[in-house]
Amino acid sequence: MPAEISTLQKPRKLPGVRELLTDAVEAVGGTERDGQVHMAEAVARAIRTGEHLAVQAGTGTGKSLAYLVPAIRHAVEGHTTVVVSTATIALQNQLVDRDLPRLAKALKKPLGREPTFAILKGRRNYLCMHRVHSGAPEEPEDSGLFDAFTVSRIGREVKRLHEWSSETETGDRTELVPGVSEQAWRQVSVSARECLGAARCPVGDDCFAEKARADAGRVDVIVTNHALLAIDALQEQRVLPEHDLVVIDEAHELVDRVTSAATAELTASAVSAATRRCGRIIDADTSDRLLEAGEGLALVLDDLPAGRLDTLPQALGGAVTVVRDAAHACLTALGGERKEDVEEATARKLARSAVEEIHDTAVRLLDAFDADQANRPDVVWISNDTYSSSPRPPSLHVAPLAVGGLLRERVFARSTTVLTSATLALGGRFDTLARQWGLPPEPTPAPADDGTATDKPAPADDADDGLRWSGLDVGSPFDYGRNGILYVAKHLPPPGRDGLGDATLDEIAALIDAAGGRTLGLFSSMRAAKRAAEELRERLPYDILCQGDDSTSTLVSQFADEPRTCLFGTLSLWQGVDVPGPSLQLVIVDRLPFPRPDDPVASARQRAIEARGGNGFLTVAATHAALLLAQGAGRLHRSSSDRGVVAVLDSRLATARYGGFLRASIPPFWPTQDPAVARDALTRLDAAAPGRASTSTALR
Ligand code: SF4
Repeated sequence: MPAEISTLQKPRKLPGVRELLTDAVEAVGGTERDGQVHMAEAVARAIRTGEHLAVQAGTGTGKSLAYLVPAIRHAVEGHTTVVVSTATIALQNQLVDRDLPRLAKALKKPLGREPTFAILKGRRNYLCMHRVHSGAPEEPEDSGLFDAFTVSRIGREVKRLHEWSSETETGDRTELVPGVSEQAWRQVSVSARECLGAARCPVGDDCFAEKARADAGRVDVIVTNHALLAIDALQEQRVLPEHDLVVIDEAHELVDRVTSAATAELTASAVSAATRRCGRIIDADTSDRLLEAGEGLALVLDDLPAGRLDTLPQALGGAVTVVRDAAHACLTALGGERKEDVEEATARKLARSAVEEIHDTAVRLLDAFDADQANRPDVVWISNDTYSSSPRPPSLHVAPLAVGGLLRERVFARSTTVLTSATLALGGRFDTLARQWGLPPEPTPAPADDGTATDKPAPADDADDGLRWSGLDVGSPFDYGRNGILYVAKHLPPPGRDGLGDATLDEIAALIDAAGGRTLGLFSSMRAAKRAAEELRERLPYDILCQGDDSTSTLVSQFADEPRTCLFGTLSLWQGVDVPGPSLQLVIVDRLPFPRPDDPVASARQRAIEARGGNGFLTVAATHAALLLAQGAGRLHRSSSDRGVVAVLDSRLATARYGGFLRASIPPFWPTQDPAVARDALTRLDAAAPGRASTSTALR
């Protein structure tokens, strides 16, 4: 072997993680923090030992560098690919547009080459050139659902998409600005099931989705989302390239995102759309049978109330069975792949995929009631959005009661997994979330505190002791005890069913007045947010923005730009607002964010745990509330100089048995139940805010 070749092949000794992290932090202009170093070393150890890691890293830790540095080092050293999964598009964009480009440059010299990365999304997110250019059948329109104006708008958008298809280099939907409606996008994209397959597709060589997947297979780091991670786990055919390390950021959202990806829906309009797709491919009698089955389903659903189904009403069972059998007959008539021209093959593929989906969902819905209640894997419910601002006809849903088994077998058993978030140790322990992920109990379990989640596992989700994992809390560089106050309004009556009481509104007004605006109001319902906004606009001299008045991103920008403005809203604000500085010095929580009692999945999970002798309320509802409360309280401190008050106006946080578990889940603020203390602190902060006379003050 020639000398130069053997030199080239000699493996290069790479610097250690500690050294690389120092280079990386220097290059991005940051400062090294203990928690970040601690986390990076723990991730490196997990990679070395194969032991899964759950790591809680508070805001300001710099956790993306702490996992990216050891992950990239592993990819370069092992000539392998690592997967980083996020819950939100915001974090995905931050990684791909900011963190990874800077990191790749910083690590080029020490690693001997510039690390590479790519983003990978589900097929539906890319333009399908075959549908755009080869006259593939249009998505059947349901004239009953869209009015003439909407149809012409969709037409204009589709025309724009055709023009865009000759300009775009990626076909990635997010690069189209301004965006288009879902209905228009569906006419130029396909699901994985609808795709002809690159080998059969006449434009397979130019396919954007195939190119993205091929690129992803060649890079060091693939950035994806929890939904695609779930699809990769659910399908026999892998979507993600071969990998031996997964980093799951925003892991507190993993269970919800995987549950959504594994949820199926059956509607009468989907049945009639599938029938139209069968078109002239099959005989009219067979397709008419499916059409009539869909109409029968619509009639039955119209007569049933929305909500969870513990038993299958006879009429509904009959209607779903008819749909299942009619769909099966259509599939038999459609047959498999055959020699035919591309146009016919495309029409057959689209029809098969639509009918298969109907058939599989009908089978799953009927099977969901087979086992006795305590052992059912799925929960079924009817939703009815007739009274919402965008009414939809009733639909049937089926969702898994637990996703731990899936994650354990298809994620943890396949790759070393690092799960991270600012909120993972609920009540100070990782156990609660670890069980939902399908991991065994914490390696060195501490005795359960009174009021923490129970040790009863979720149904059909028995933990496997063969999996090893550890939990690590690296804390936060923020001094929560000095810079933040947790004020619990113990004197207020517990929140009732009738929404915000007068005493609560008075309390909100007094707090905002003391803070001089600067308030993020996190409400448990849109009705409560709107009522508070209307009432307080009359009473206070500050602008009060309310979610729904404009796009959420516009409202958040306005809130950030004008310090004396307040922003009220619900769920998406609990996790999505990142406003450092004097615009946000008060976070108000009107009531503890338990799931609604009629939430079908949460209530079914709760009941299943109770059927096994566990405490469903604590394991499901309190966990849900703890996660959201921690996320909501976390809005206050976005930089080390932020100071302020988190005011929880639900006295149960101080008085209920589970209050300790919830309080232990949020950052360690200085606690008070005295409204005067909270108001005085806010008044001092307002006086010290930039632009006011005084420039520094003590919080308490
Ligand atoms: S391979 Fe599939 S996604 Fe790609 S262009 Fe062809 S049909 Fe569309």
